[in-house]
Amino acid sequence: MSLIQVHSFAQGVWKAPAGVRTLHSAVTGEPVAEAGADGLDVLAMAEHAREVGGPALRALTFHDRARMLKALAQALTARKDELYALSHVTGATQRDNLFDIDGGIGTLFVYASKGRREMPDAQVFLDGEVEGLSRSGAFRGRHVCVPLQGVAVHINAFNFPVWGMLEKLAPCLLAGVPAIVKPATATCWLTEAAFRIMIEADVLPEGAVQLVSGGLGGLLDALGPQDVVAFTGSADTALALRGNRTLLRNAVRFTAEQDSLNASVLGPEAGPGTPEFDAFVKEATTEMTVKAGQKCTAIRRIIVPEAAMGAVAEALAERLKGVRIGDPALETTRMGALASAAQKADVEAKRAAIAAEATAVLEGWQAAPDGVDPERGAFVPPALYLCEDPDGARAVHETEAFGPVSTLMPYRDAAHALALANRGGGSLVASVFTHDPEFARAAVAESAAWHGRLYFADRDIGREGTGHGAPMPHMVHGGPGRAGGGEEQGGIRGVLHYMQRTAVQGSPRMLSAIGSDWMPGAPETPSDPHPFQRRFGDLAPGDTIHAGPRVVSLEDIEHFAHFTGDVFYAHMDEAAARANPFFPGRVAHGYLLLSFAAGLFVSPDPGPTLANTGLEGLRFMAPVSPGDAISVRLTVKSKKARNTEYGEVRWDVAISKQGPEDEAPIQAAAYDLLTMNAA
Ligand code: NAP
Repeated sequence: MSLIQVHSFAQGVWKAPAGVRTLHSAVTGEPVAEAGADGLDVLAMAEHAREVGGPALRALTFHDRARMLKALAQALTARKDELYALSHVTGATQRDNLFDIDGGIGTLFVYASKGRREMPDAQVFLDGEVEGLSRSGAFRGRHVCVPLQGVAVHINAFNFPVWGMLEKLAPCLLAGVPAIVKPATATCWLTEAAFRIMIEADVLPEGAVQLVSGGLGGLLDALGPQDVVAFTGSADTALALRGNRTLLRNAVRFTAEQDSLNASVLGPEAGPGTPEFDAFVKEATTEMTVKAGQKCTAIRRIIVPEAAMGAVAEALAERLKGVRIGDPALETTRMGALASAAQKADVEAKRAAIAAEATAVLEGWQAAPDGVDPERGAFVPPALYLCEDPDGARAVHETEAFGPVSTLMPYRDAAHALALANRGGGSLVASVFTHDPEFARAAVAESAAWHGRLYFADRDIGREGTGHGAPMPHMVHGGPGRAGGGEEQGGIRGVLHYMQRTAVQGSPRMLSAIGSDWMPGAPETPSDPHPFQRRFGDLAPGDTIHAGPRVVSLEDIEHFAHFTGDVFYAHMDEAAARANPFFPGRVAHGYLLLSFAAGLFVSPDPGPTLANTGLEGLRFMAPVSPGDAISVRLTVKSKKARNTEYGEVRWDVAISKQGPEDEAPIQAAAYDLLTMNAA
């Protein structure tokens, strides 16, 4: 069989491998592919990204880019069977493919959807509220995020050839930054296949993505202040790369996701017979065997109350014995092979270091693997150890055997359990199986600082929990210390890693123009016709109507009180209201003011304003007394397209009041009103 020639993709052209290294099947040990990137002009690739890809991406809005991600996800979904077939050769079972291939595609879909829902259809992302920096409001400040103008270099680990690429590309492309993807060479044929599907889908602008299937040459030495490196791999490689003098000199952003000694803790109360105990044993088995333990988030340390240790060790060993190991392409196989013979040797060496500090609970082959020769492929059996003295031990807390190897550790009390969990020196995730909210609270207080994610599992989450080991695109992925100190995903947080946050200060007029929204103090445009009679596309920030005045009478207040049943004393009892420090006497209901305001500003006729979908940030700022006259200002604040039929309009509403004796109106209430308007 001819070997797969793993290409690179540089400046829009596929490049055949050069200076090749032969890659082997994890299952049979046979050669499967050749890869190498010798002679690739990586500096020209970086320039291409900066000069062609970056400007093209930045010309699009967040919504355009989100649509692009969705199209990529759809293209990959349509051809994922091709990827499954190649993936088996890396040692991955069909269950593993759900993490790597489907998980990667799912991440694209989530970012596509979040980009459209949580980011504007514009090129500038607004971060946080407007800050008032002067007494009159003539000078204000806000924070904006814009895409970096360089290239992102994505260096990925071998264990997730597809997810690893897509979980970095999704936020990066949504931000508007072009990427050079460098997969780990050991499994790069699968990454190349997924990358090829994306190129063939023809939805990305030229220069948005490029691929190096081999070494990066001198690329890192040529990165500048607008570039980003996002690395996933071992702590040793991360250390070597982050020390690069060019990266340090130019303060190039360097995110590292590296190995971590993740823990899972069984709660003090969760003894045998509880749902938490059963879920704990099941999860530990899954985490040891999915991807044959080659998961950065896998459970390496299993922390158990002393009294429950015997029962946990027995139940876990029993479950592990039942895991069918063998040819990853067989439907019955639950655990496949490691990715390569080199990994097998590495895991063996690290397993031995752990075994020196612990006793074996389960070791060696329990049954012959199905349909393969274990001597030829990179197969290893699960190994479970018990470390009786986890306080005195070191290797069990520091050695990541990147395979199906875990260590049980007994604890005396809750504080001891959490101290042991923290001994990993910083991890991506720790799970806590408990039904006791007090223990969960203690875990956050004592341990959250040491872990990027805490996963609390109990009977209430049932089967809906996504699992200890699954990074969800909505949630931060990364961890302190040993885990690399980096952060990826976490919804839009992950996008901002590829953007510069800049404080902008100036007048409301300037800040409104920059943010494509309106704020008090910026120019108003009188709307004619009534803005409710204008379509989504015709409305612009600043379009305004003023309505009123309307005098609020005591009869209005009483009528509203009896009609709604809201006969709170502040509206009904003069003496009691006066005794309240907030009111001068009986006052109008806040909800009455909102209703009167709507009565003043709506246009009653059928038209493009379809529905009021909400109201946000409501504040009542001054009480309205009987006899006061209220007026209202309604201004388009911002707009968000939803689909081809309608979009959401956010209106800034200010209600003011003026008493018979007042010289000038006073603001009584403010809020954002949300409506859906026909396109
Ligand atoms: P690795 O040996 O550190 O390699 C990681 C990546 O760095 C590969 O793409 C590798 O390319 C590249 N690389 C190595 N030396 C380089 C250099 N001098 N310049 C530029 N790139 C270089 O790690 P691995 O063995 O692939 O992955 C396993 C490790 O990754 C485990 O420790 C695991 O815990 C960790 N991991 C962490 C996460 C996470 O999200 N935190 C996820 C998955 C895996 P070549 O393959 O071409 O050498």
